[in-house]
Amino acid sequence: MPSIITKSKKVLCATLEQVPRGHLIAAGALTASLMVIMAFSPNQKVNSSDNIQSLEVSSEVSATSFQMFPKAVTAPNILPDIIEGLKQTSSSKLLVTQPKQPSMQELTIKSGDNLSSVFARMGLNDRDIYELFDGNKSAKDLRSISPGQKLEFLVDNSGKLQELKYYKNNLDSLKFTRNDVGFTSQLVSLKPEVKRSFREGTINSSLFMAGKQAGLPNTLTMELANIFGYDIDFALDIQKGDHFKVMFEEQFLEGKKIGTGAILSAEFTNDGKTYRAVRYTNKDGVTRYYAPDGKGLNKAFLRTPVDFARISSSFSLARKHPVLNTIRAHKGTDYAAAIGTPIRSTGDGKVIFAGRQGGYGNLIVIQHGQGFETRYGHMNSFAKGISTGSRVSQGQVIGTVGKTGLASGPHLHYEFHVNGQVRNPVTVQLPQSIGIAANEKDRFAASTQTLVAQLQDFNRNSRLALGESKTKSN
Ligand SMILES: [Zn+2]
Repeated sequence: MPSIITKSKKVLCATLEQVPRGHLIAAGALTASLMVIMAFSPNQKVNSSDNIQSLEVSSEVSATSFQMFPKAVTAPNILPDIIEGLKQTSSSKLLVTQPKQPSMQELTIKSGDNLSSVFARMGLNDRDIYELFDGNKSAKDLRSISPGQKLEFLVDNSGKLQELKYYKNNLDSLKFTRNDVGFTSQLVSLKPEVKRSFREGTINSSLFMAGKQAGLPNTLTMELANIFGYDIDFALDIQKGDHFKVMFEEQFLEGKKIGTGAILSAEFTNDGKTYRAVRYTNKDGVTRYYAPDGKGLNKAFLRTPVDFARISSSFSLARKHPVLNTIRAHKGTDYAAAIGTPIRSTGDGKVIFAGRQGGYGNLIVIQHGQGFETRYGHMNSFAKGISTGSRVSQGQVIGTVGKTGLASGPHLHYEFHVNGQVRNPVTVQLPQSIGIAANEKDRFAASTQTLVAQLQDFNRNSRLALGESKTKSN
């Protein structure tokens, strides 16, 4: 028992001893640094010729003092160092001109530059390049320098390269440092900050215009259309007032946007009907978009057989092409588009006819299996390699829009056949798309629930923020 008391007493004493001592030293260090700053600050104003020199010194000294400050609190035995440091700084030693330390110099690659010309600009020669490459595998990356990229050089007073930094991209840089035998290299990779962003828009004239107005990058507008391209015909079905919401990732480095990631979740309301999608990477590493209930969005057929991105710019929703009004009359779907607009196969299959046929003009017929067949008429030209017997995949360009055969103007005449009969691809029963596997349902739910919730939250928050700013301005 007594031994325990003694022990705890000892501990207590030690603590009591340390606390005030630490405070004392901290206060001392603070006074010391203040003194140093005060001692040097008049120089900055009085002696203008020594301005630069004294500025350099004073900032150096104060930095040293402040570095000591936290050290002094935790390590009391540093006091002699502080005193020694003060002795040194208060003497005139530091004010004596020192040889200029070499500093890193930045250089941007110009077009037409090569490694030799870049090194020459820095006063270095091919010998330096040889030294850099000798026994250093990473140096070969320097051969792929391209205009706009940055290099940083540290050349010592004798003109020798000491350090080279090559900024490969926004995130990765390669650093070469001289050692006794040559150069060592180190890849430095920065990790960007990833933020989730939200955009929403209402279609007034075209999907691409609405995307632009919402601040959605064109690539994501295209991705949005691809995600819902099995349910919505983006060439014909899009109406004024259709609405979309998109959540995606953006990468930032030091507050600056450096990249746009994929769409994480999205919603598209077409003619009052809402479609939703979430991005999911399965256990095998395959990434696809699914409906929030786990049903697959990818289907056997795309809704749009033309490259709608190419036609949406000239495509007026208010005034449909007269040919479109005859859809019902001839049991097919007409897509008015400029001559040369790419035509895509809506599903995987085999070309069973590619040639001229009566009123159809240039026609391609594709057999997809299970009794499905698609026909593409009035074509201007067939894509290279497309002929009877060719295999085609979904979305593959098979030719271009024209007005061959019985056509009043340039358009694609598209037919969808099931067991030899023209059917409406919207209402026809299509092969079931692949949804989430039963043994992955829980994993899917766990990783996508937040995506759906966040899309809704973003929406609510953006409305709240809008309401708040309105109140504030009032
Ligand atoms: Zn037609």
